[in-house]
Amino acid sequence: MIDYKKLAAKGVQKLNPYIPGKPISELEREMGIANIIKLASNENPLGSSPLAIQAMQNTLKEIELYPDGNGFELKKALAAKHDIDMDCITLGNGSNDVLVLLAEAFLSADMNAVYSQYCFAVYPIAVQAVGAVHKQIPAMGWDTDSPLGHDLDAMLAAIDDKTRLVFVANPNNPTGNHLSEVELKSFIRKIPEDVIVIVDEAYLEYSSIDEQVDASKWLKEFSNLVVTRTFSKAYGLAGLRVGYALSNTAIANVINRIRQPFNVNSLALVAAESAIGDIEFLEKSLFENDKGIKILEQTCEKLSLRYVPSKGNFLLIDFEKDAADIYMSLLKSGIITRPVANYGLPNCLRITIGTTDQMHRLDKAMENVCG
Ligand SMILES: *Cc1c(COP(=O)(O)O)cnc(C)c1O
Repeated sequence: MIDYKKLAAKGVQKLNPYIPGKPISELEREMGIANIIKLASNENPLGSSPLAIQAMQNTLKEIELYPDGNGFELKKALAAKHDIDMDCITLGNGSNDVLVLLAEAFLSADMNAVYSQYCFAVYPIAVQAVGAVHKQIPAMGWDTDSPLGHDLDAMLAAIDDKTRLVFVANPNNPTGNHLSEVELKSFIRKIPEDVIVIVDEAYLEYSSIDEQVDASKWLKEFSNLVVTRTFSKAYGLAGLRVGYALSNTAIANVINRIRQPFNVNSLALVAAESAIGDIEFLEKSLFENDKGIKILEQTCEKLSLRYVPSKGNFLLIDFEKDAADIYMSLLKSGIITRPVANYGLPNCLRITIGTTDQMHRLDKAMENVCG
């Protein structure tokens, strides 16, 4: 047979495909065990808002109709939430979708994008898929003030006249580290106006309101700023695929040129709109996450394992030896975690914060494996 990979565009041939967390059903099939918990994909252990589920049930009755391609009602709710014009919002099939759209709209083979080592795996895929050059800047070391964090000075130094996009996730996945308001804002201020800086805030909701570094408040100040958000994490709607970008209207118009006309489905539109209004569910999610992360931190301290201080719903833990065996042992006890060797972190696992009960079960399993 022909080597079809060789026929693919050069950037596509070179990229490392995304490796998702193992689904519960797959582990059930493979090992025939019950009572599995998945702590691998930063999903919400509390499920999702009952208001969102009700809204979807009502919408099922008219599922033969195309969705509202402009997402009017959801955009209206988001505009109110962010105190921003509706024309500044681009909806996506997950924020993954808007990240890819940004790369497609602003990059070509002679352009480059800048981001940090240990960044979210979707950035290099999006950039390489369009054949652009990626500049992955070495992260800070473990023994710095910002273990495995972005080296902002080095990222700034890497920007040249061919740079179109800069990606920063705050907090970052898979590491969990985060930049302060001062650090992030002074970084954005130093970026030339013709370079678009994308601040990915997928985990913002896991900080309490007074601690959130919310770059969307600076959109009027920086015309080259794009902020992305998602309903997949704290809002508990990962399976629906809905996220969005906030930007000035000119950038939103560019992305909209290539967006699929119905990229967000009807169920996702109504569920996300309802979820925004369910403050109670969001607060409960944050509260449970705070409790769970403390339990996992204590487990790590007890077992003398270092971890990156995290403002997300996960912890990156360093086992200081190949973590593949630990991953397998945890799997056998019915706990799915996330290997991050593909991120260049073979000694680490990324573990999502579950319920208190799940964190206690993980504590026992980790003690058995590492104690
Ligand atoms: C999970 C995650 C997203 C969200 O992806 P969706 O496509 O919205 O589900 C975006 N950025 C980062 C850094 C993430 O970890």
